[in-house]
Amino acid sequence: MTLLLSLDANGPRISGEAEEVTRARPVPANDGHGDVRKKIVPIVRPPAGPSQAEWEGGPWLTLQQWIDAPVAGAGLLLQPADDPQSLAGRLDGVGIVGVDFPRIGDGRGYSHAFILRQRLGYQGPLRAIGAVTADQVFALEQVGFDSFALRADQSAEPAIAALSTYSVPYLTAFRDRDAAVFDAKVRLLEKALIAVGQRHDRPALATSLSAEDMVITDVIARLRLPIDVFTLDTGRLHAETLALIEQVEQRYGIAIVRARPDSEAVDAYVAAFGVDGFYDGLEQRKACCGARKVAPLNVALAGRDAWVTGQRRDQAATRVSLMEAEHDAARDMQKYNPLADWSWADVLAYAAWFDFPMSPLYARGYVSIGCEPCTKAIRQGEDPRAGRWWWESQDGKECGLHTNPTTTRQ
Ligand code: SF4
Repeated sequence: MTLLLSLDANGPRISGEAEEVTRARPVPANDGHGDVRKKIVPIVRPPAGPSQAEWEGGPWLTLQQWIDAPVAGAGLLLQPADDPQSLAGRLDGVGIVGVDFPRIGDGRGYSHAFILRQRLGYQGPLRAIGAVTADQVFALEQVGFDSFALRADQSAEPAIAALSTYSVPYLTAFRDRDAAVFDAKVRLLEKALIAVGQRHDRPALATSLSAEDMVITDVIARLRLPIDVFTLDTGRLHAETLALIEQVEQRYGIAIVRARPDSEAVDAYVAAFGVDGFYDGLEQRKACCGARKVAPLNVALAGRDAWVTGQRRDQAATRVSLMEAEHDAARDMQKYNPLADWSWADVLAYAAWFDFPMSPLYARGYVSIGCEPCTKAIRQGEDPRAGRWWWESQDGKECGLHTNPTTTRQ
């Protein structure tokens, strides 16, 4: 039987056994941190069929089998392509719902859990099976899973540690927190963004497609606020981020402007330092950020009178003094950071309440969404900024978009 981690009122509980792993566990050459040029991620191929044929109560039924002939107390296993909405009014008597994750990073299982818990009101056992790793249990718990059949090469301790480390903010956000307090926070955010739309002629949100920026995008789109949305398409973004841009446009019916670098500036950088010259030193890295990010940002903001960001104070040591509203003196415009006092738990709570598309990179351990060669997943307990420019010292990790010494409090 698979190693099973379950959550109940008394906390995490282990049952089953780890399967014997005959193959050596793949170890990245850099163990995730060494050679900055080789971020090797072990590839785990998905099985051909469902990841498990049975649970401890008997065989799993497919969605179609359950719809055709439900059996009281049976286990229902959903696959990524299944539509859980088809279970509306049909969940009575189900013994357990399993959600199969045939491969790491497939975000559809998270959506299934959200729909089951939030839309269909399913309160019974909900299990994640398949390519479930210790790193994922925190994110899975956030969307309502209460047991986790861990992948064969996983062990229980890191998963329990992940839950005990992260459960506090999660529980605070979702279970024990006074919903009215969170609701008030959302209303304040809405008010702040409405005011930005009223006060300014051409305000814009600069989005990286991070969860924070998705919160603001969601408010802008829900309330149809006159705030443009643009993103810095540096030419080095993850494929997942590029796909998410299109997904967000379709979901909200909005256009996200791609602010791209000047091709001559990029060519000049590559000629001087090489395409990945940013690994060679701070000067080279800042030159790349300057050409691919800062210059396009300045072009995107030219002629505007305000910009909005999703920065939060607890994201980085460089942001502890972040203000909700400032004057960006270098660009002579207002700058708004309406999530300055939001916690990560607040962001997750908002994501769960409003069900917006999240970057699949989060499920793979990324906590910061940036350019592909300069961003990596972090380990549990690491500083959130450890995943950005990890070969540099911790205290100066900014790309130049938000470092402006003449910015003053408003
Ligand atoms: S984050 Fe990396 S790839 Fe992106 S602009 Fe900066 S140095 Fe270049």
